[in-house]
Amino acid sequence: MKVIRCVKHEPLDTGSICMTRRKFLQVLILMPVLVRPAIAKSNASMRQQLQYQNTPEGAMSCRSCLEFLAGNSEQQAGRCKLIPDDDEIAPNGYCIKWNTM
Ligand code: SF4
Repeated sequence: MKVIRCVKHEPLDTGSICMTRRKFLQVLILMPVLVRPAIAKSNASMRQQLQYQNTPEGAMSCRSCLEFLAGNSEQQAGRCKLIPDDDEIAPNGYCIKWNTM
């Protein structure tokens, strides 16, 4: 697929995209925003407040906590409803707010 400049009344090749200069510049400006890779975030201050640790406390772990929002798989990091802006909560993690009720 190639991007070509629009010329009125001229048929397009198959696989080409007709784009005005203005539209092309808009796409160019937005490109870094649109293709930005997902960056893992962690909320250090909330983790500290809740004494979060990456290891379980006996049988208590994030995996069995009602506040845990699992990642894409059982092993993948997820999120916690009590720790905003953090998507690196370990399923085997633990904090003082562990909750099953
Ligand atoms: S409240 Fe604590 S134990 Fe429960 S998911 Fe969040 S960080 Fe893990």
